[in-house]
Amino acid sequence: KLGNETIKAELGRAAWKLLHTTMARFPDSPTADESSALKSYIHLFQRLYPCGECAEHFGQILGDYPPQVSSRSAAAAWACHVHNKVNESLGKDMFDCANIGDFYDCGCADEEKEGMN
Ligand code: FAD
Repeated sequence: KLGNETIKAELGRAAWKLLHTTMARFPDSPTADESSALKSYIHLFQRLYPCGECAEHFGQILGDYPPQVSSRSAAAAWACHVHNKVNESLGKDMFDCANIGDFYDCGCADEEKEGMN
């Protein structure tokens, strides 16, 4: 069956947006349980990613670059790096990971003091 590149790209943009925004909201000092949850989330994101070809490719990248879940900054830098690996394989421009700081905003009120997302 012939794939549809436009729909695949749209799915990719939505998925990356969710992934990077999740990293941007991850705690600076996560508990062991929070780190474990993020690690599981990333592995399940890969396993269940709707585009099978993409999932397989991303699985190889995860094998080379295991998820970094010790802090918000480590997780955000890791996600930027693996997205760049995908960019590279698709012949796209590299994103400057030094600029990721406030690029991904969830648009939610700051509820961090209450320990909520
Ligand atoms: P995208 O790569 O979707 O990026 C969206 C926006 O994020 C960019 O416009 C930019 O503002 C920002 N951005 C770019 N790079 C980074 C970065 N490193 N860190 C943070 N933000 C960044 N497509 C395929 O054809 N084959 C595949 O094998 C494939 N594998 C994929 C695997 C995964 C896990 C995902 C989520 C997507 C995959 N895709 C794949 C889709 C592909 O990565 C793109 O999403 C799609 O081609 C649309 O690209 P885009 O140029 O619009 O920008």
